[in-house]
Amino acid sequence: MADQTNKPLGLERVKKWLYAKDLDERSSGCVLCGSCYGHGPANPMEDVPGPKEKCPPYEYYKFQRHTPKSRWLMAQRVFHGLDTITPELKEVMAACTNCLMCQELCGVRGDGYGPWDITVAMREEITEREGPLPAHQAIFDGLKQHDSPWGQTARGAWADGLGLTQLGRGQAATLLFAGCSAERASGRSGAVALAKLMQTAGENFAILGDQEKCCGLYAFDLGYRREYERLKDANLATLTQAGVTKVVVACGSCQRIWREYAKEASGFEVVHGVEFVAQALTTGQLKFTKTIGKKVTYHDSCHLGRGCGVYDPPRQILRAIPGLQLVEMERNQRWSWCCGGGGGAPEADPAMAQWNAADRMREARASGAELMLTSSALCQRSFDELPEAGLPTQDLLEFILAAL
Ligand code: SF4
Ligand code: SF4
Repeated sequence: MADQTNKPLGLERVKKWLYAKDLDERSSGCVLCGSCYGHGPANPMEDVPGPKEKCPPYEYYKFQRHTPKSRWLMAQRVFHGLDTITPELKEVMAACTNCLMCQELCGVRGDGYGPWDITVAMREEITEREGPLPAHQAIFDGLKQHDSPWGQTARGAWADGLGLTQLGRGQAATLLFAGCSAERASGRSGAVALAKLMQTAGENFAILGDQEKCCGLYAFDLGYRREYERLKDANLATLTQAGVTKVVVACGSCQRIWREYAKEASGFEVVHGVEFVAQALTTGQLKFTKTIGKKVTYHDSCHLGRGCGVYDPPRQILRAIPGLQLVEMERNQRWSWCCGGGGGAPEADPAMAQWNAADRMREARASGAELMLTSSALCQRSFDELPEAGLPTQDLLEFILAAL
């Protein structure tokens, strides 16, 4: 089982963590410690207590099979030919919201891989053997046919009227990567605000406009590894040809994937818009002048937070706005609770994904804030689509722009 470049795929890719025999190197796996779910013991490697709630599908279903540990064991048994891929196994794998909490908690991750990596590899194995899940077929087709998880055929409309330069028609060392969400209501305001913030800061940058392709987030997370590799190669080729050395992204999920590229390629740095703004405030390129008498809370996106370790810049920015009061939700930063919007969960397990978003919204209300700020278009969409009105939410970049 190999792709065109002979890279291993699926469970073969992670066999070192599935107790495979006859390897030259030591093979290991889950040690059943229970740190990754429920109210299990704290990870002995940690010097701070872990969160009370860990894996969203487990908290929703309260069945052992929905723990990260079970996902790992299921993958192990399939790899060794002890189990087949059953409908139940597919259901369990599809419920993972890709929140990365298990990855953050698991002591075994120090070996190089964690439970979430195994879930992704199991998803790849399912795709290789059986193709995409029916609930994700449209996403798979959209990526394959239009380089977009939502099958977008026209790109770049988000930038209409902003007077931005398209890479190729003008050169720039900095690229603003808007992301597929920029063409949807949930992500448009963040991308537009980032462009205006970069213009205000005097940054010389270009966009990809109608040439932009998906970063590959859905392809990576849903187990479409061949599509991910194709999109990654195309995006990196564009960067190299244009001589781009800095990529600024508008969405926390794009950030996680661009950081994934950077593990294999060099010569460029990747920053989220909030990191760009934090830096521009330090250099004086941006400055807050208005007083904003509001109480806000900030929702750490799983991908920007646990995925990229970006916790301080959003808080530094908010504390720099005159008059603004930042209050934290009970679960924040490393232990932030997922919105349920990732990993294809809203398509495969909508009831669970919506419960996850509603639970986070309940926590935001309990913080006493009047507004919740987000830094990933997928989180913004989760809260926008809640049937019951909760706290208002807004993309952090849009909020920052209005505060200048
Ligand atoms: S990534 Fe999150 S939802 Fe998925 S198994 Fe780990 S803790 Fe559970
Ligand atoms: S996946 Fe990691 S944290 Fe969870 S039970 Fe196994 S070793 Fe422990």
